[in-house]
Amino acid sequence: MSTAPGRFAQHLASGASLVPGLPALLEPGVDLEAMAHQAREVTLQRFGRAVRLFAPLYVSNACLSSCTYCGFSKGLDVARRTLTVEQVVEEAQALVAQGFRHLLLVSGEHRVEVSADYLVACVVALRPFVPSLSIETQTWSDDTYARLVEAGLEGVVHYQETYDRGRYAETHVAGWKRDYDRRLSSTERAAEAGVRRLGIGVLLGLSADWRADVHAVAEHAVWLQRHYWRTEVTVSLPRIKPSASGFQPLVPVTDAEYVQALCALRLVAPEVGIVLSTREAPPLRDGLVRIAVTTMSAGSSTEPGGYLHPGEAQEQFAISDERTPAEVAAMLVAAGYDPVWKDAFALRT
Ligand code: SF4
Repeated sequence: MSTAPGRFAQHLASGASLVPGLPALLEPGVDLEAMAHQAREVTLQRFGRAVRLFAPLYVSNACLSSCTYCGFSKGLDVARRTLTVEQVVEEAQALVAQGFRHLLLVSGEHRVEVSADYLVACVVALRPFVPSLSIETQTWSDDTYARLVEAGLEGVVHYQETYDRGRYAETHVAGWKRDYDRRLSSTERAAEAGVRRLGIGVLLGLSADWRADVHAVAEHAVWLQRHYWRTEVTVSLPRIKPSASGFQPLVPVTDAEYVQALCALRLVAPEVGIVLSTREAPPLRDGLVRIAVTTMSAGSSTEPGGYLHPGEAQEQFAISDERTPAEVAAMLVAAGYDPVWKDAFALRT
């Protein structure tokens, strides 16, 4: 049975727009240099020279869903691993030793191996030495989000991947994630349960019309900010990378189009944090941090247990920036930015 559309889905279906200037900014042939200059000014004004660093901590690649683009998809014959809570603590200790104070716990969608109880136990075990914890897992009920908040969880990340319902159905072929409306309303449920950082995003290249997806995610971000004004909202626009799925993007998004998308997002949603992952190569990451990006991952492994015992399980996707966290931090300092390992809230005033 499918979930009924949530409040944002109803807003989207109404055709009303909170970012009416966006389509023009996403048109081909814009003056990209002028746009990047403007975006940089807005980013400096709103966020200063602080760039928040975080690391993903993959706790499991077990998954009961089938998504055609993902290396963890249920049908794939890959090495699976779910860390024990003790192993999660060991991985976290290794990341804390490198300087990280914000960790994102990531898993596939497996309600048995990565249950609500398991996640609560992870948060309880990590909270004493990790000040800022977020999750990127399956979607949960209000009660579970509330339990996680009570245990010390700060953030929830749920990418819609694509807002195009038809393409969503084609690429999410089975499992929990197939329910478009359940996924789309998950950030609303998390915010109502007290989660104070919400991350949303789209996977560029999944749908043939990347501009429509950037428009929808910007609309979503501004809608969330207006409705949950105490909550920090971030957006990520990862591009599809090679994975065990063998998936190829329908339409590749070029570097110039990618920069345009991030600049446009910054200009229509000046208060929204923009996250950049290690999927992108160092030269592009280094340039984007001077334009629109406010949060970056660094030194990432996308394999469960991959920081201490690499090579024992399948990674989710290949990364392009293989620099260590210290090297990324040094790049930021050399560019005149402050790497922030812990909390960006205090630095946004
Ligand atoms: S995208 Fe998420 S739900 Fe889909 S196969 Fe990958 S891990 Fe599972």
